[in-house]
Amino acid sequence: MKFEAIAVENIPLIHYGDDLPSIICENIELQDRDIVIIASTVVAKAEGETFRLEDITPGEKALEIAARSGKDARFIQAVLARSREVLVEMPFMLVTTLAGHTCVNAGVDESNIEHGFLLYPPENPDVSASRLGKELERLSGKKLSVIVTDTNGRAFKIGQTGVAIGIYKIKPIKRWIGEKDLFGKNLEITEEAIADELGGAANLLMGEGAGGIPVVIIRGLDYYYEDCTSIKETYRPEEQDIIKKGLRSLQKKS
Ligand code: GDP
Ligand code: MN
Ligand code: MN
Repeated sequence: MKFEAIAVENIPLIHYGDDLPSIICENIELQDRDIVIIASTVVAKAEGETFRLEDITPGEKALEIAARSGKDARFIQAVLARSREVLVEMPFMLVTTLAGHTCVNAGVDESNIEHGFLLYPPENPDVSASRLGKELERLSGKKLSVIVTDTNGRAFKIGQTGVAIGIYKIKPIKRWIGEKDLFGKNLEITEEAIADELGGAANLLMGEGAGGIPVVIIRGLDYYYEDCTSIKETYRPEEQDIIKKGLRSLQKKS
């Protein structure tokens, strides 16, 4: 068994309005069932999600959080603008975004963007993944999957990893429930986070710095192809999310 991860070279600096699918197809010959992994940074740049801190006017809630945390109220306002719930205010903002993804600072990024600018992640990464996927399929004539990734930290462990924040035509979770282990025992709870694992694998070639590799192709793992999928399938149902419940109760106490 094996699969390949291929860095797409020669992608230029991306700006608002750039046609990412054409740029990708000019630099790699896609094959049927390739999984195209695209860093959210370049998706956001192409969608024009750049802004300047100085253009942001903080609202009341941002000013309150800033007074408590000592952070820049304009930055907090930028995070709040993309958040549906704040779970932690200090020492960093941990939020659930409008799209339902839970991460630090709503994914607002200061790196790999021109000086003085910041970047929001794509507003609805599933929609972005689908739009890019359909256009990549049209241009290449191949059946493809797409994963839009971001780099996120993990609770409990040091170190960030690439994770999926939007998907197109890929099974995000492989359910092992009902399958057997090596000794014939039924597996009862194991669900494998395929889309995140692929995001992590692609991130090995992307890196976080000046590498200039925002697109990686995973080839040879075609058995995760699935027609109608959404990253929302990976979000734990509210009533089962004990970590969120715990964070909410801590906020009430403070
Ligand atoms: P994120 O994980 O989506 O926040 O993206 P990163 O900022 O970590 O960047 C991932 C990869 O994409 C790195 O190799 C960056 O150098 C590269 N990258 C970011 N923006 C651009 C761009 O506009 N053009 C190119 N060619 N590479 C970029
Ligand atoms: Mn990022
Ligand atoms: Mn990254």
